[in-house]
Amino acid sequence: MSPAQDWLNDKKARLERKNAFDGALVYGTARFNRETGRDRAARIPFQEFVDPETGLLRPDLVRPRSCPVCSTPPGPGLFVKGGFRHVRCPECGLIYVSLVLREDVMLRYWREELAWMSVLNSGPQEELDRLKFSYGLEAAEAHLARGVPGNVLDMGAGNGTFVRTASARGWKATAVEINTESAQSMLDEGYQVIVKPLELSDVPHGAFELVTFWEVLEHLAEPRQTLARVAPLFAEGGLLLVLVPNAGSLVTRILHEKSHTFGGHSHLNHFNAGSLTRLLESLDYEILEMETLLTELGAINNHLDFQDPYRGEAAPFVPELTPELIHDRLWGSRLFVLARRKGRDAWGRARPLPRRGAEPRRSP
Ligand SMILES: [Zn+2]
Repeated sequence: MSPAQDWLNDKKARLERKNAFDGALVYGTARFNRETGRDRAARIPFQEFVDPETGLLRPDLVRPRSCPVCSTPPGPGLFVKGGFRHVRCPECGLIYVSLVLREDVMLRYWREELAWMSVLNSGPQEELDRLKFSYGLEAAEAHLARGVPGNVLDMGAGNGTFVRTASARGWKATAVEINTESAQSMLDEGYQVIVKPLELSDVPHGAFELVTFWEVLEHLAEPRQTLARVAPLFAEGGLLLVLVPNAGSLVTRILHEKSHTFGGHSHLNHFNAGSLTRLLESLDYEILEMETLLTELGAINNHLDFQDPYRGEAAPFVPELTPELIHDRLWGSRLFVLARRKGRDAWGRARPLPRRGAEPRRSP
């Protein structure tokens, strides 16, 4: 076994690596939110999009949508936050925003967005992100039998911390980023950047050993379409890496709409392990790894102690609630997935289909 595979199979080593980029554990929740500017960014409302009469998004700016995972029409509403109506799909369990801003409004917003970019650029966030991205790259590298480090396409590259981290490990990184300022700063550093939505670009097919969506799918009104567009871009045996907020996390189950993951900063889709698996498998991806990252343990303790989840400084509620338990149950606040197109082995060869008659007998 290679050293890379060694640590992947070593549960304790893996947990130590995860804890080292868990901001709430490293800095404490209140300090981490303050020093990264997260608390300020989360309080900026989408006021220009909201009708003050109804408290809902302005009807001229929105369009309805069905469940982006399974196409079922929206079920009963869960809550409204920041003008966005959140519903849960009765079929697949996805929590999602059923009225989304029109695509042109969304594109303009992301081109000009600055508040979240300033969080990404803050010192503590950059430092922890580098560790998180290295962890993801090492996990991907352990699964790739060849072509490593190779070409990586980073969808929604943000401020460029991932492309810098990947380049330092020897990967040739291409960024897709529509935010004008972020894209320019990566271009200034000499990186290859696609400054338009993927469907409008001519990315070469079959070129990438790795395609990454670091906290991107939750922002897309049509995540299925984007994932389908990415499918022909993989080199043989290429891997898909996804990180999304986890609606099945303990922190989200406890805080509900008080969680910063909902509303105000355009998270349109809230996957849990089941709905993310369903989406990827329906697009012919086979999941190789699924685990959770980040605990938000401080926010849980604060809420249970009647303090502000993000600014409180409560002591642990019970000592038994540890990062180990949280991640063992897939209760961490982000879902991390590595996947590969079905029917391909690590060398990209199509797997032989089972011979007729060789299949195990099904019980009646
Ligand atoms: Zn659904």
